[in-house]
Amino acid sequence: MADAAELVQRLELGVQEIMSSDGWRRYLAAQARFHQYSAGNVLLILVQRPDASQVAGYTTWQGLGRQVRKGEKGIAILAPVFPRRDTATQQDAGGGEEQLAQDSGEGQGTRSPIRFRVAHVFDVSQTEGEQLLEPPIHRLEGDSSEARWLLERLFEVARDEGLKVEMAATDTGQANGFYRPLTQEIHVARGLAPDQQAKTLAHEIAHHLLQHGRGRDPGRHAEEAEAEGVAFVVCSRFGLDTSQYSFGYVGAWASRGKEGIATVKAVSTTIQRTASGLIDRLEPTQIREEDSAARRRPAASHVSGGTDR
Ligand SMILES: [Zn+2]
Repeated sequence: MADAAELVQRLELGVQEIMSSDGWRRYLAAQARFHQYSAGNVLLILVQRPDASQVAGYTTWQGLGRQVRKGEKGIAILAPVFPRRDTATQQDAGGGEEQLAQDSGEGQGTRSPIRFRVAHVFDVSQTEGEQLLEPPIHRLEGDSSEARWLLERLFEVARDEGLKVEMAATDTGQANGFYRPLTQEIHVARGLAPDQQAKTLAHEIAHHLLQHGRGRDPGRHAEEAEAEGVAFVVCSRFGLDTSQYSFGYVGAWASRGKEGIATVKAVSTTIQRTASGLIDRLEPTQIREEDSAARRRPAASHVSGGTDR
C-alpha cells in the first residue's frame, strides 16, 4: 500500500497534470476577472460569510452573465479610493471595481489611496445566471464502506480535539463545509454523498490540525492546498480515492497564489507530516497492536501484511 510520501508525490503529479491542460487555461482566463483581495478584506469576507467561495462586486458578476439575487445582503469590505485620473480602462470593470482592483496593493508606487470607503461584494451563491467556467473539481458521489468507516473514525478524532462537528443543511448548495477556528466548529453539508462527507470532514479537521486561523498563517491559498492535500493523502491511505475532487481543488487554490504550481511543492512536507500524524490516529487499533506484536517477534512480521485496508 502507498505510504504518505508516495501519496504526496501522486498529489503533486496529479495537480501538475491538471494545471497544464487546455481546460485549465480557459478556467484561469475566467478567474483573471476576479480580484485578489487583501488579507484584511479576505478576513472581513470570511467573518461575514465563512462559506464564501467566489466573491466579486455587482458589476463584475453582471459582466460574467450573473445577477445578484433580489434581497441578497452584500458583504462589506474596505475599498481604497484613489485620486481621480484618466481611466481609459474603466469601461471593462465598472467604476467601483476599478478602485477595488487597486486593493491588491499593486500600483501603489504611483498613487496612494486618499481614503477608504465601504464597498459591497457578493458571493457566487448569492447570484444566479450563466454557469461559471468551473475548474475540474468533481464532487464525490459514492457511498463506500471506506468512507463510512473514515467518517466514524474522523468524528472520534474531532471529538478528541474538542471540535464540534455539525452536519448542517446549507442554503447555498455551494460550500461542502467549513471550519471556524474561533469557536472550534466544523460544518459539513448534510446533503453530500458519504464519500464527499468523509473527504470534507478530513479537510476541515486538517485546517484545525494545521493551526489555520490559530497562529499559523501561510496565506489562504496555501492553507487550502495544505488542508486538501492532507485530506487526499489520508482518504487515499484508507482506500477512498479523492483525486477527482482534490487535484482540481488544490490546483485552483495554487493558481490563486503568487507561486502557482510551486505552492504544492512548498507545502508538501507540511502535508506529509500532518497526514502521517492523522493516519496514525485513524489506524484501527488491531493493526497497531499487530504492528507492535510484529516488532516484538520480527519473524512474524510478514503475517500482519494481510490487515491492509
Ligand atoms: Zn478549506
